[in-house]
Amino acid sequence: MSLAADPSSLVPAAAGLRHDWTREEVRALFDLPFPELMFRAQSTHRENFDPAEVQISTLLSIKTGGCPEDCGYCPQSARYDTGVEAEKLMALDAVLAEARAAKNSGASRFCMGAAWRSPKDRDLDAVCDMVEGVKALGLETCATLGMLTAPQARRLKNSGLDYYNHNLDTSPEFYGAIITTRTYQDRLETLDHVREAGIHVCCGGIVGMGETREDRIGMIAVLASLPAHPESVPINMLVKVSGTPLAAESALDPIEFVRTVAVARITMPRSVVRLSAGREDMSEETQALCFLAGANSIFYGPKLLTTPNPGRDRDRDLMDKLGLSPMEP
Ligand code: SF4
Repeated sequence: MSLAADPSSLVPAAAGLRHDWTREEVRALFDLPFPELMFRAQSTHRENFDPAEVQISTLLSIKTGGCPEDCGYCPQSARYDTGVEAEKLMALDAVLAEARAAKNSGASRFCMGAAWRSPKDRDLDAVCDMVEGVKALGLETCATLGMLTAPQARRLKNSGLDYYNHNLDTSPEFYGAIITTRTYQDRLETLDHVREAGIHVCCGGIVGMGETREDRIGMIAVLASLPAHPESVPINMLVKVSGTPLAAESALDPIEFVRTVAVARITMPRSVVRLSAGREDMSEETQALCFLAGANSIFYGPKLLTTPNPGRDRDRDLMDKLGLSPMEP
């Protein structure tokens, strides 16, 4: 019997996590009738999480623009004329003021993003001070700074970094159409350094970049087959920014986005799946379906690095409407 014909074989046993997902199995999940897929995703979700809780993170761009990389979706690349000005690294006090405000708004995790290919050592000193300061406020800390060496990852760990974000973005096959300045293997190596340093991994990707379903399958299959599942899996919908190579990309069907979230939930049952970029243009109904499909984290705040995100009031209204509450750290 094919896997597609027997979807009951596709949900991992509650006790064990699988790290050997084949593309055929992931494809079979994507191909399930939508009600069946949602039922399985919600069942998996309930076995591992309180379905009424959503983890709230706030993301601050601590160093904006002027990035030498060529990620085709990114307004911060110096190669594209997007109107984003290159700025210097923020001062420690200003970062801590933002972190305090995020905490007061209900965030449990504070993520700091810098538009670098990889941090220079003197920049890392400054970021380590920020991590220490944010941690002292009682927030979980997360950073996304580009590629890291093993010693850099250890330094961040020693300063109190809880999570490091480094996305795989898409499938290995489609990757070269989106980024040419670093390889898929480079990304996997940074993830190894982060994991070996004892930092939790935040790693996901972006959909709606013109990839095929097969690429979405490939991306999830790689993520779910990492030696340890990322503790946090952001699934982003492309935000089309004028001036970037992907500005004119056609929109992905929202149901396909929900399917991607559901398959991530089923294959990585204990990971927090984050409904990340792209919520600004998403209907409340689509977001509600994503929560049903097992998404249990969002970014809170009016801006995601340089692109718009729903305001805090809009998010609070939606969470109230759906009866969702913030997850404790
Ligand atoms: S995604 Fe990150 S690495 Fe890529 S261009 Fe943007 S800031 Fe640079």
